[in-house]
Amino acid sequence: MFCRNCGAQIDDAAAVCPNCGVATNANPAPYYGGAAPAPAQSNGLAIAGFVLSLLGFNVIALILSAVGLAQSKKLNGNGKGLAIAGIVISSISVVGFIILLIVLVGGAAAAASTFAAVGLLA
Ligand SMILES: [Zn+2]
Repeated sequence: MFCRNCGAQIDDAAAVCPNCGVATNANPAPYYGGAAPAPAQSNGLAIAGFVLSLLGFNVIALILSAVGLAQSKKLNGNGKGLAIAGIVISSISVVGFIILLIVLVGGAAAAASTFAAVGLLA
């Protein structure tokens, strides 16, 4: 590479330019031999699952959040909280929807039988 201060060609691993003494880049000494820490990656699935759970797309949100939770293990726990929140919110939403459905269907059945009874009496 070339020094950004004086333009001299220098070793790629050099942290400081031997010509002018200025630090060569923003990442000093990148070659330690050890494994570099994984860069922070955003967990798109967890975010998508969380957002969809808030928007009421409960089944899709539940699936995305579950996959996002699995992904978070590969991403150093990144997005884990969002994935769990997405699962919880979408689960409550699914259960709430089922309860609502039961109440509506039960209510409709009750109303129908009431009407039928009234019809029979009339
Ligand atoms: Zn230089």
